[in-house]
Amino acid sequence: MLVDSHCHLNFPELSADLGTFLTQMQANQVSHALVVATRPDNIAQVIEIAASQPYLFASVGIHPDEKLPDFKLTPEYLLEYVAHPKVIALGETGLDYHWNKELDMTWQHERFNIHIEVAKKTSLPLIIHTREAAADTYQMLKDAQIESCGAVMHCFTEDKDWARKFLDLGCYISLSGIATFKSATQVHEVAKFVPLERLLVETDAPYLAPVPFRGKLNHPALVRHTAQYIADLRQINLAELAEVTTQNFFTLFTKAVATR
Ligand SMILES: [Zn+2]
Repeated sequence: MLVDSHCHLNFPELSADLGTFLTQMQANQVSHALVVATRPDNIAQVIEIAASQPYLFASVGIHPDEKLPDFKLTPEYLLEYVAHPKVIALGETGLDYHWNKELDMTWQHERFNIHIEVAKKTSLPLIIHTREAAADTYQMLKDAQIESCGAVMHCFTEDKDWARKFLDLGCYISLSGIATFKSATQVHEVAKFVPLERLLVETDAPYLAPVPFRGKLNHPALVRHTAQYIADLRQINLAELAEVTTQNFFTLFTKAVATR
């Protein structure tokens, strides 16, 4: 059995045909999926989808690409959602300097810190997005001492040296369909390097479908192709990779165990 540790089943491409994608999950032995919120206006729907099936979970947070000048995040805002039994994580949060080129990134740092503060307060893990911002992401996580809540570096595309540093902070590393792209040699190296007991797999659906579905609509069942590719790289069988990554998911997201 596999777990899709990060997907956006609430996005219209997927939610419009949710039943079909859930059936495909089961048919492909993808037993669980974590549905991740990105904006204030999709949190309720993410929780609703997670609550509709025992094998779905929710994460609550505001994506760093969502500038939302009229929205001011507070710890209380997140805490209210986190009380829901299906909310097992905070995020996705983090830093993104690719889509945000202005010089003053204080707003992103402040928002990231609020997620960190709530994660530590509630002992729920963080789901971290980082793009062209590895050094600052690392420093903020290090300063915050996140050992008590834990974190996963989602859709990890940094190099092996950064992987080592984030692993040293206690983070898990989650790999997406990018791992199956021929040109993604840096991710292939990371896929072989990360200790098996710290590895997760994800789709980030509806984006980043793995080969042979690259460019098409992604959905949780396709995590199987990413897992198979990584298993081949590591020269282990899919069953072993599936078992360990699933175990890792429930080790990190402890609140998921209760409703499993
Ligand atoms: Zn995502």
